[in-house]
Amino acid sequence: MPPTPAGPAGRTVLHVDLDAFYAAVEQRDKPSLRGKPVVVGGTAWRGVVATASYEARAFGVGSAMPTAAARRACPWAAYLAPRFAAYRTASSQVMALLAELAGPAGLMEPLSLDEAYVDLSGSSTGPEDDGVLAAAAAFRERVRAEVGLTASVGVGTSKLVAKVASDLRKPDALLVVPAGQERSVLAPLGVRSLPGVGPATQARLAGLGVSTVGQLAATDERELVGLLGRAAGAALHAAALGVDHRPVVPEREAKSVSAEETFATDVVDRSVLVGELRRIAGRVAERLQAADLRGRTVTVKAKRYDFSTLARSATTAAGTTTGAGTVASAEEIVAAALPLLQAIDATGGLRLLGVGVSGLVGATDDLDAPVQTDLLAALADVGTGRGDDAPGAVEPVAEAAEEAEAEVEEAQVASPGAAAVALERRWRPGQDVAHDEHGPGWVQGSGVGRVTVRFEGPHTGVGRVRTFSVDDEALQVTDPPTW
Ligand SMILES: [Mg+2]
Repeated sequence: MPPTPAGPAGRTVLHVDLDAFYAAVEQRDKPSLRGKPVVVGGTAWRGVVATASYEARAFGVGSAMPTAAARRACPWAAYLAPRFAAYRTASSQVMALLAELAGPAGLMEPLSLDEAYVDLSGSSTGPEDDGVLAAAAAFRERVRAEVGLTASVGVGTSKLVAKVASDLRKPDALLVVPAGQERSVLAPLGVRSLPGVGPATQARLAGLGVSTVGQLAATDERELVGLLGRAAGAALHAAALGVDHRPVVPEREAKSVSAEETFATDVVDRSVLVGELRRIAGRVAERLQAADLRGRTVTVKAKRYDFSTLARSATTAAGTTTGAGTVASAEEIVAAALPLLQAIDATGGLRLLGVGVSGLVGATDDLDAPVQTDLLAALADVGTGRGDDAPGAVEPVAEAAEEAEAEVEEAQVASPGAAAVALERRWRPGQDVAHDEHGPGWVQGSGVGRVTVRFEGPHTGVGRVRTFSVDDEALQVTDPPTW
C-alpha cells in the first residue's frame, strides 16, 4: 500500500487509555475481586452499567447496559456503586505522570478521567523513534507501580491513528504505528473503529457494501458525501485514509460540561426526543459527578432539519446553602431541561440535541466561589471533535450514590420505621468503611438490618467477611484507601 499523507511530517501523537478504569480501581482496592467479574454503576433497579471488568465483559456485560440486564447476563458478578473520590485521585496521579511525559512543551489533552492525548512531535522524529517507545514503556510501568493500574498506549502520526492503536491490543498494551503504515493498520478494521461511526452510520455504509475501513478508503468520496452529507462524508473518507490534522490542544478552563447527540435521521417524535434528552442528561450528570461539580445553568441546544441552531437556557435561583439552586444529578438536569425542550419548535425534525450545564461550582464549595479544577477540561467535550457515538467515547451515568443519599434524607424525615431503612441504605456496595476492632474494609452488601463487610485493602491478601447490625456504632464510613 502506498505511504499515507497523514499530516504534518514527523508528528508523534500518543493516546493513553486506562483499562476498564472504574472496575480496575475496584479490583486494585479489593483483592478478593481480582480476576473476577466486577460491574460498577447504578445499583438501583433502573441503574446503568458505567464500567465492567474484562471478566464481566466475557459474559456480555458492557457500558450503558441497564444493570438489571447485566445481572441476568452475569448474576455472580460483584455489583458496586461508583466511588468517584477514588477514581478522581487515581486519575490525577495518572495525569501528573502524563504531564511529565509531555515535558516542558506540555502538549497534553485530557479527554476524560482515564484518557488523554500527548503530542511528542517536538522531541522525536516520529512514532517509531526509539525514545518515544522507551518513554511510553516507562510511563506504563510507572502507572502500574505508582497507581496500581494498567494503561493501554497507542502511538501514531495523528490522534485518530493513536486512538485506534491504543484500542487494538487492549488491555495492558503498547502499539506503535510507524509513519507510512497508517492505511495498512486501519484497512482490516471494521468501520466502527473510526471515531464518530455509530450503529446508524455503520448500517448506512453496509448499504454500500462497505464494512471495513479499507473498503471505506476505496470508496469514492462523492458517494460518501451523497450518503452522509458533505462534512461527514468528507471527514469519514479522510479518516479511512488515516488523515487527521486535528492538533493536540492543551487543557483549558472549562466553563461548562455538556454532551450532545447527532441523529442518523431527523427526529420529529417528541417522545423519542425526550428519551434522548434523558440519555444525554445522564452523560452530563456522570461527568459532573466525576468532577465533583454542580451547575447553576442548564442549556438545551438543538439543530433543526434546516441546520438552524437554537439554544434555550434556564438558570436556577441561587440558594444560600451549599448545593441549593444547583443541579448535578440526571434527574435534576432533566427537570430543568424538559421545559426548555418543550419550548423548542421541533416541527420538521431535529438533527442534533445537546444538553449543557454551566455556572459550575464544586459540589462542596460555596456557591459564590466558582471553581476550575484541572479535570474540567478533561470532562467537557467541547472541541475534542468526537461524535458522541464514538466507540468508548462516553461512559454512562452512574447515579446510585446520590440517589442513595437523597433517599436517606427523605427517609429520615419521613418516619421512625423509614429511618431503619435509611440506615441500611447508608451502606452502599463497594463503599469504604472502617470498624473500630477489625480495621478498614468495604461493604459487600446490606439488607434485613445487617451489613456485610470484607476486611481487606489494596495491599492485603483476600480479607475475611463479617456481618454487623446496620446501626453498629463501631462501623464508620471512611475515605478511599491510598495505593
Ligand atoms: Mg478507558
